[in-house]
Amino acid sequence: MRSQFPYRLYSQRLFCRRCQKVTEHGIYAHEPYSTFGGMDPHIPLLCCCDACSTMFVAFSHEFVFCRRDCVNQDYTKIYGFNRIVAGNWIYFKGAPKPGVVKSIFQGPEKEVIVVNYDGASEQKMELPKTNVDVEEAPGGYRLLPAQSAQTLLGDFVYHAIRDQFGIAVGFVNDGEKDKLAVLLKDNTLVFITLPPLVQNLPNDKLCAVVQGKLAQVFPEDVDKISVEVGQGIVYLKGLVKNLSIQRAIEGCVNALPKVRGCVDFTKIQVSPFMTDTEIAKAVYEVLETPGTSLFDYQVGVSGGKVQVQASCYENERPKDIENRLAEIPGVRDLVCLVTELLDPMNVDICKKVEAELATNALLQGSFIRVSCNNRKFLLEGHVQSTFQKQLALFTLLKKVKTTAVENRLRFS
Ligand SMILES: [Zn+2]
Repeated sequence: MRSQFPYRLYSQRLFCRRCQKVTEHGIYAHEPYSTFGGMDPHIPLLCCCDACSTMFVAFSHEFVFCRRDCVNQDYTKIYGFNRIVAGNWIYFKGAPKPGVVKSIFQGPEKEVIVVNYDGASEQKMELPKTNVDVEEAPGGYRLLPAQSAQTLLGDFVYHAIRDQFGIAVGFVNDGEKDKLAVLLKDNTLVFITLPPLVQNLPNDKLCAVVQGKLAQVFPEDVDKISVEVGQGIVYLKGLVKNLSIQRAIEGCVNALPKVRGCVDFTKIQVSPFMTDTEIAKAVYEVLETPGTSLFDYQVGVSGGKVQVQASCYENERPKDIENRLAEIPGVRDLVCLVTELLDPMNVDICKKVEAELATNALLQGSFIRVSCNNRKFLLEGHVQSTFQKQLALFTLLKKVKTTAVENRLRFS
């Protein structure tokens, strides 16, 4: 399994079930993602104990470094340990529950905080002034045990019953129940049983659900795919027709309730005739479909991995371009970046020349796109002869009265 996750992204202290303690773990991924700025959700990550090499899989959205908008952001500020502003959830040690700060007023000796509990009862508190100079968790804490279902790996936590701060270090199963592992400040490890709603389904049950869904949505592909399930994680193996189907299957599995995430080991069927050159040709065909108004495109294909960069006019981004590229046989990976030009130049003259080229009988069998970006005119597409390539260039030069022209026409 390690070979499928070659890139070490991050180190984190997590609970190792073999060492039976919290150890440094390497967090490995299939690709060299960065955790800086937040990681996209649903990316499988392999967590490997540095001490004993025991591994387990977790997903990017189960970690504190996931993109903020993709994970639950209900953190509670603890009075006396956090700086507090209106709108924060606040918890006073010993209180039965947290509330929302309606307002906070700081006088020279006192502070007055108005807290709303359950959206109804408001409570005004006059407290001696506290100064919090250093915050261990500026974003706040998960309040345990109440918030065990929302807690992410690496979250700062406050255990209200034990009156202890700590950090979330793992999800474990003791053979019966799924639990959240937390390392408290006094070095005790506690295992909090997760609420029934977030307990994983038994493996065979979830496996049947996934197989049923795939049979229903992908009837032509399902017989080549095997499904295995462990602790809410779905492992797919087998063969798929193309990248588009592979991505669709993964998306379908990830969208099922009670699925923690999908580890996709399926391989794309590759015809020996689809060399990188053949794939590049097919990519150009998609980019140069009439009605697909892309220009200034760069195409790179290496080992079935396709990279496309292109521009389009505002609101003219072809909607299904990514799908159509992913359907090309032999494409194993795809990065497609389309930039909308907000302030394009010379659009009318480009369209006029393009129309003229399209109707020129001497250019029969060619496909030519004219665009202008950064004060430079571009000829893109394909022609059948050097003569056609020259003719297209001369036609454009005559119209635009500038020599800032790049002729990228290819021979088909
Ligand atoms: Zn270990």
